[in-house]
Amino acid sequence: MSGELYDIRDDRFAKLIHRNARMDTLWTGGRWTEGPAYFAAGRYLIWSDIPNDRILRWDEMNGEVSTFEQPCRNHNGHTVDHAGRLIACEHRGRCVSRYEIDGTKTILADSYDGKPLNSPNDVVVKSDGSIWFTDPSYGIDSDYEGDAAPMEQDGRHVYRIAPDSGITRVIDDMKQPNGLAFSADETTLYVADTGKTHFPDCKPKIRKYPVSADGKSVGSGADFIFCDTGLFDGFRLDTNGNIWSSAGDGVHCFAADGTLIGKIRIDEVVSNLCFGGPKRNRLFICATTSLRSIYVNARGL
Ligand code: MG
Repeated sequence: MSGELYDIRDDRFAKLIHRNARMDTLWTGGRWTEGPAYFAAGRYLIWSDIPNDRILRWDEMNGEVSTFEQPCRNHNGHTVDHAGRLIACEHRGRCVSRYEIDGTKTILADSYDGKPLNSPNDVVVKSDGSIWFTDPSYGIDSDYEGDAAPMEQDGRHVYRIAPDSGITRVIDDMKQPNGLAFSADETTLYVADTGKTHFPDCKPKIRKYPVSADGKSVGSGADFIFCDTGLFDGFRLDTNGNIWSSAGDGVHCFAADGTLIGKIRIDEVVSNLCFGGPKRNRLFICATTSLRSIYVNARGL
């Protein structure tokens, strides 16, 4: 099976995997899973099952899966901030929210220029405490993943929430910005464009943008890597700058120079993934109906 599980394109990838490691299916039964986030202090993982309007929780100690929250306003992407708090992208809430230590919830951003956001999709926290998120239209396109509604923004863009609140638009040249991540030194912002869902000529890709010297905006972007199967949705970087991305046939791994060095094949479309476990060397993968996991020889940023 290992020959089928791994598609090794480059020796660099062979060093990033354990050939005898197997793919675990930790859970199945979702409609469209996304938004995994690992909580090191609690040793659990949460993820979204968007059409079922729920957040699920996998307990690393006993493997049990329970409902974390339902209904949840059709959450999509999640991350954990530097204080260990959950940051959430809500389709139906059309906002980015934060779950506070005392159990209350704070809406961090729900509008730009006086108009509602589309449907925040994925989110990352920068070292300065600012929160960067993408705002494609998937959560308002139909009632399946949110509430159908007309788009009030002039497009699908990327935004930054300042540490002291206040939202700015940082990218406005994408079709459907989706997953995003910073390089380790935070000089580069990578953003996936899934615009092909609405614009057939938009090649599935990850673009890269140089972060400005003050860290608050980005310069002009360029296409960086293209997806040969399906779409790049969510992705993560490891500590050596390799990019591990969701795709139509599993997880694609790219070296920092943009070379496709290998794939981990999965028989369902992958939407998103994250590193977790005490050593951050375990990939947690949201694959359509299921949550998968595999140990790799790399550590997540
Ligand atoms: Mg996404």
